[in-house]
Amino acid sequence: MPESQRRVTILGSTGSIGCQTIDVIERLNKQGHTFSVVGLSAGKNINLLSQQIDRLHPSAVCIKERSKVPTLYKRFPHLRILTGEEGLKKVCRMDGVDLVVNALVGAVGLGSTLESLRLGRTVALANKESLVIGGELVSELLTKYKGKILPIDSEHNALMQCLWAGKLAEVVRVIITASGGPFLHTPAKELVHVRPEQALGHPTWSMGKRISIDSATMVNKGFEVIEAHYLFSLPYEKIDVIIHPGSAIHSFVEYCDGSILAELAAPDMRIPIQYALVYPARVETGLPRLDLEKIGRIELEVLSREQFPAFVTVLSAGQIGGTAPAAINAADEVLVDRFLKEEIPFTALAEGLETILSRHIDRTVDTKQKTDFSAILATDKWAREEARDLFL
Ligand code: NAD
Ligand code: MG
Repeated sequence: MPESQRRVTILGSTGSIGCQTIDVIERLNKQGHTFSVVGLSAGKNINLLSQQIDRLHPSAVCIKERSKVPTLYKRFPHLRILTGEEGLKKVCRMDGVDLVVNALVGAVGLGSTLESLRLGRTVALANKESLVIGGELVSELLTKYKGKILPIDSEHNALMQCLWAGKLAEVVRVIITASGGPFLHTPAKELVHVRPEQALGHPTWSMGKRISIDSATMVNKGFEVIEAHYLFSLPYEKIDVIIHPGSAIHSFVEYCDGSILAELAAPDMRIPIQYALVYPARVETGLPRLDLEKIGRIELEVLSREQFPAFVTVLSAGQIGGTAPAAINAADEVLVDRFLKEEIPFTALAEGLETILSRHIDRTVDTKQKTDFSAILATDKWAREEARDLFL
């Protein structure tokens, strides 16, 4: 199948990455490519989903709640409408799908990634939680069924491009860049007063709410280290993070001969999304390009572990492995939600994660044991309940 004629299913089509994926597809089709969207899935935003159905004519859609089906059915009586997590899997299984774009947020994305890989499909993966909580399962399925993951996360998309230049054995380390978020140099004592709207205001990227908060705490960067570990089979010792506030460089790969390769592009997620869609080709994006003359300076600095304690906790969970990352992810989903509802202060995010990780370590006899899907689900449920009760 030529890369320009792919049939795509988009999970999380009403979110930040989902909408940008549709924008890329519509731009590509205007240039003469023929991408078709066969399946869409959304959480609650029926109005936006309906507009997308009108524009893209999918054969099936999935919505989170069954209660929304009658509204959708009234408008689209001939459309196949699915619901819930089983529905998500069904849209991944649809006949003729060449590429599943997983742009769901949170642990709910794992089932769809696993289902697609079981069919040997290619997944353009934005849902980093699939690798954070289910990295071992994903790796097993990739080996067994010969599917493929094309990372949409900009840092990993950059790494994938830089890793083409050599062999994995020649890589000394990869260096993931981090903008530092809105509180890079905010004094620690002021962080307790941070309000949701300040934490949501990312300096360089416009994203969904959860990843914006995760970028402010640097939980997101910890997740990205785990993501890189599984995606590229790299030991944790070979994955570093560096602060780069300008977000022009999306990551580096350092090779054994001392050469360091970097990928640079404008901070626009549609660039890595498009690369995943047309991979391995490269086509004109029609988007604003990075203007090197305008950038002037490229600033880099060491990530302060004191400033970002949650980053350290997530990294520890990754190194412990097993179900520890699932515990941290679930706790983070709950804590971010509670912070956005102003139930807990910003600093409680890092404190809460540390507490949940130490409780997780206490309750698991052998944290290195093999991680199956039911163990991940059980841990996810346990950590959500714990996180709901923290600080009460
Ligand atoms: P978002 O919150 O904007 O969108 C999430 C989508 O998932 C929405 O369509 C929502 O309706 C759907 N959804 C959420 N819960 C659901 C459920 N239970 N069942 C069915 N659908 C559900 O999130 P986003 O910012 O687009 O991020 C999506 C993923 O991409 C995340 O894993 C994030 O870490 C990753 N990512 C995002 C960006 C970015 O710029 N936004 C960059 C890199 C990686
Ligand atoms: Mg990223």
